[in-house]
Amino acid sequence: MTEFLSAILTGTPNRSNTSARRWPVVIYAGIASLVAAAIFVAVGAVREIRELSRAGTSQSLWHVYQTHDAVQRVAAAAPEAALTQAGKDRFQTELELLASQVAAVREYRMLDLQLPRHAEAWKSIEQALADGLRACEEPGLLSRDQARAQAERFGALRSTTRILMAAAQQDLNTQRDLARARLIQHFWQGAAAIGLLVVGLCVLLWRTRAAQVANAALADRLSDANRTLEARVVERTRDLESDRALLATILDASPTAVALIRESDAAPVYFNTRMREALALAATPAAPFPPARLFAQPEIADELDALLRDGRPVQDREALIAGHPPFHALVTARRVSIDGQPASLIWFHDHSRHRQLELELQQQASTDALTGLANRRAFFSEGPRMLERARRYRHDCALLMIDIDHFKAVNDQFGHHAGDRVLRAMSDRLRDVLRQADLVARLGGEEFAALMPETDMTAALQAAERVREICAGLGPQLEGFGEIGVSVSIGVAQWRAGETLDHVLERADAALYRAKRAGRNRVESS
Ligand code: GH3
Ligand code: MG
Ligand code: MG
Repeated sequence: MTEFLSAILTGTPNRSNTSARRWPVVIYAGIASLVAAAIFVAVGAVREIRELSRAGTSQSLWHVYQTHDAVQRVAAAAPEAALTQAGKDRFQTELELLASQVAAVREYRMLDLQLPRHAEAWKSIEQALADGLRACEEPGLLSRDQARAQAERFGALRSTTRILMAAAQQDLNTQRDLARARLIQHFWQGAAAIGLLVVGLCVLLWRTRAAQVANAALADRLSDANRTLEARVVERTRDLESDRALLATILDASPTAVALIRESDAAPVYFNTRMREALALAATPAAPFPPARLFAQPEIADELDALLRDGRPVQDREALIAGHPPFHALVTARRVSIDGQPASLIWFHDHSRHRQLELELQQQASTDALTGLANRRAFFSEGPRMLERARRYRHDCALLMIDIDHFKAVNDQFGHHAGDRVLRAMSDRLRDVLRQADLVARLGGEEFAALMPETDMTAALQAAERVREICAGLGPQLEGFGEIGVSVSIGVAQWRAGETLDHVLERADAALYRAKRAGRNRVESS
């Protein structure tokens, strides 16, 4: 209650939430009880006023006066009741009039007449009245004694009725005084209730006004806060837009192609300039664009798609991009969340130039610079793979070891440069005579090897013979060499299942050695 009053007086809400919620109810209950009290007091006052203004209140006094008069008239009429019948009738009539007055007084039940002494006096009147009426009911006139006794009795009652008149007057005064006192009491009670009501209403108005002021202040603060918030939102939006524009500028200037594709409906969210150029698109497509469409090889598209759906990142995966024209690129991809929805963020960097260089380097690394044939390294790298394929498919395979005869003498006689020309010419002949599928390599100096898949010993010997023949006629064909004879010796070995390249090389080398020993420009096999 103290908290409640302090809340009303200070205008600050109660700390306790429950009390804060309850106090307006208490105010309304207080006002309601004050209104009820005011109504109660007003009703009481009205009742008192009505009581005071009731006609019967004064009439009771009048009836007591009339009783006094009636007693007097009865006393006056009593002697005649012994003289004539008319006198008796008049006496009886006066008695009956008295009876009606007595009944009227009884009816008003005046306060003072209830007192024992007054009640006694009243009873004596009633008794005399009853006796008189009884005497009148007897036939004939009243005797003179009876009439005299009646006259004396009612004559004596005049002093009684006079006392009763004074008592009635007093009773009326008392009642009016009491009613007035009650009325005044009701007035003060009503005034107090109305005063409290006015105070309550004033407090209520004051609180309402305070609440209005507080609400207005709160609304101002809220509107200020809103304005600040709006300004911040505008500023933040501007920042975001400038960040977005900056990001778009960077991404569009990037040599890396970037695509952002929503996962649920394959909607292309963003394609940067490089991506659009690579795919020959004028703008970011509006229609669904599944990530698989970026790749020319469906198996790579499936693989990347599966990785992304599993939430696993893709890092520098080489893939052929379905560009115009298709090109090789290194692909990096992540699964990201855009507006709460999963999306694939895919970058790729054009790798074709790098790949071309790589191929060129690979080519250079595996090619003999002088002759353009495979070099020793390429021979020992590709050779075992060819033997593995032969093993797997149960094919034949043969090896030729070719060595130029007396090449040192060529160098000595015509110079090293001329020796190189012979080597190049030899290589061209080998390429012409042997098949595309044969692995022809310069193993070093003036030594060559040819690994021939799907070739049995007969075919290998035939091929070796063709090589020997074509090389034997080479000298005269070369400008500046005159009639010099150039020849080769060849060792042939048939690959045996399970045999390594080194083993078959050893056997071919052994056959070559035999060919040299046997006079050169020959083919030997092992
Ligand atoms: P044989 O008939 O027994 O094979 O005798 P050969 O002279 O051919 O063999 P040898 O091993 O004695 O000499 C090989 C020569 O090949 C020695 C070297 O000067 C020469 N030679 C090696 N590589 C090159 C090259 O790249 N260019 C030139 N012009 N000559 C080379
Ligand atoms: Mg040699
Ligand atoms: Mg030689």
